[in-house]
Amino acid sequence: MESLKAFYIFFIGACLGSFMNVLTYRLPRGLNIALPSSSCTKCGQKIKIYDNIPIISWFILGGKCRNCKTPISLMYPLTELATALLFLACYLKFGLTLEMWHACAVVFFMLAAAFADVFTAVDENFDCGIIPDSLNMVGFITGFGLSWALYGTYTFPLYGALTGFLGLFIPSWLFKIIRKKEGMGGGDIKLMAVVGAMLGVKSIFFVIFASAFLGAVFGITLQLVSKQKNIMLPFGPFIAVASVIYMFYAPVFDALLYSR
Ligand SMILES: [Zn+2]
Repeated sequence: MESLKAFYIFFIGACLGSFMNVLTYRLPRGLNIALPSSSCTKCGQKIKIYDNIPIISWFILGGKCRNCKTPISLMYPLTELATALLFLACYLKFGLTLEMWHACAVVFFMLAAAFADVFTAVDENFDCGIIPDSLNMVGFITGFGLSWALYGTYTFPLYGALTGFLGLFIPSWLFKIIRKKEGMGGGDIKLMAVVGAMLGVKSIFFVIFASAFLGAVFGITLQLVSKQKNIMLPFGPFIAVASVIYMFYAPVFDALLYSR
């Protein structure tokens, strides 16, 4: 019974990962997320329902379109697998509780924001990475509602969101005044408000510093390896990673940071 529940949560994660692939492609391009149904980006052939099974279909098709044999990115099954595994981790950590669904919502919106940011950053049709406003908005409302239900007070998500927003808005505004150029994307600032609505005021300190640290380490390593200077990295993925780490170990970090 336990393993059946675990498989069920894994399966929901895989399906939502598949939906995430649709969102991260279509939202930044202003496309309808429901219609038309998925088709091959090369030959336009509609993808049949039996070729659209999360994780599995990519392997059955050998990573190629059934019709024109154009390679399909490995990122599709990997996104589905990552979402499914993290949903499973939420189940193993929190059991089948409201806390688990709250954790799954954090995973879903953080991964979606991260993938949207990365996929637009590497696409030459876009100047920089984009975290769509609509994604942040739905994430904010979902996170706010679930936090309110879970903690029994609307002040938890409200103060969290305000702290998250100001926590990135103030430094980016100062940066703009001093350096006279944009330092932080608006999408990142709104994403921090989503983090605050989901994880509360206490998460913000950890998430800002951990994401900045991860971003700096990754950025410096990339500059050394690629021997290029001034690489503009999307910041969304680092916020996402830091938030998910905090979400799984919130009591540990809170004890470290706020107890005396
Ligand atoms: Zn095709």
